[in-house]
Amino acid sequence: SRKLAMAHSVLAPSSAHRWMHCPGSVNLERLFPNQSSAYAEEGTLAHAWAAFALDKDNQAQPEKPLPSEHAQYVKDYVEFVNRETEGGFRQIEFRVSLLKVTGEAEAKGTIDCAALVGNTLKIIDFKFGQGVLVEAKNNPQLLIYALGAFDFFSMFDEIKDVEMTIFQPRKDHIDTWKISIDEANRLAEMVRTKAADALQYFNADPLPPESLNPNVEACRFCRAKAACPKLRQQGAQACDFKPIADEKPVPIISAEALSPEKLSENLKLADFLEPWITAVREEAFRQALEGVVIPDYKLVLGRQGTRQWTNQEAAETALEKSKLKLEERYTRKLISPTQAEKLFKAGRIGPRTWPKLQELITRSEAQPTLVPETDKREAWTPTATADDFSPIPN
Ligand code: SF4
Repeated sequence: SRKLAMAHSVLAPSSAHRWMHCPGSVNLERLFPNQSSAYAEEGTLAHAWAAFALDKDNQAQPEKPLPSEHAQYVKDYVEFVNRETEGGFRQIEFRVSLLKVTGEAEAKGTIDCAALVGNTLKIIDFKFGQGVLVEAKNNPQLLIYALGAFDFFSMFDEIKDVEMTIFQPRKDHIDTWKISIDEANRLAEMVRTKAADALQYFNADPLPPESLNPNVEACRFCRAKAACPKLRQQGAQACDFKPIADEKPVPIISAEALSPEKLSENLKLADFLEPWITAVREEAFRQALEGVVIPDYKLVLGRQGTRQWTNQEAAETALEKSKLKLEERYTRKLISPTQAEKLFKAGRIGPRTWPKLQELITRSEAQPTLVPETDKREAWTPTATADDFSPIPN
């Protein structure tokens, strides 16, 4: 119920970029429960181990072991935090009230690391995701954390500036945003206004259309995509479904339709519609699996998976009894360069063999992808000349 939902905080710092841009989203999202994914769970575990390493006195040792492939990421983070907070005073897994920031009495946030180093309030956020690159600049989640930590740390010394950092090791990404205390106060005012808007819409029924404000970043992780009337409407509008003016003959392929400008327009449309399309498909599929009949659609079974032995040992024994020779029963596979490197590092492959092996390693070239101008990666220019393309035969 609504009352129940209000008991928890509505304005989570992690979705601030969404509710600040699209204040009605908090209302629409109530229809879609938050599902924890395997990715979220591996992140939680990495955080728990990092917290334990940084603050053994106050943090419990996690029961589940850290997968070995994650150990280095956690170690790097721990070293980074130790370096950044040296000589300062820090709190790990620091729980703060966000009442003064978002106006919600229940709202709390947990900051991975908050520290006062000199007169700088430092906020460090450990992002374990390997999907979307998270930037520090203008990141409202970091800002809200900083504002939440402010009162506590200002008891110890004057805070002159605020430095907020994203540590995202699986994207090889460390990003920092530093602002003066005046700037932080100015931004705090803006967050408060936006939070008040979102809270006001949370209880609105019906939801006024102006409360929904689609854009690529806000909508990306919004759980309400499949139900969002604004997203659908904007998409349809962008597709420009106008009646075709009859008389004029339409050229089959007009040069304009493939012009760079048109492609740019269409790409923006695709960036916008793709998440909506995916969300609609997922929601319809989910309902169909629950037995809901979706008009004009049905469920079918795909191909079966490849066959596997249910019991490897029993299959081995049975095959041993056949007339097959050992090499007929087993396939042998050479180890990969990555596996060889591991063995070299472990001292199992000698320093004289390794260089020879290295000469035998090749890897496929990095492939280009087209991304928005705003992407942080350096632009790549194709070097192909006209000669690289074979002429089209007549
Ligand atoms: S899908 Fe986009 S526009 Fe719709 S509620 Fe979510 S963030 Fe707002």
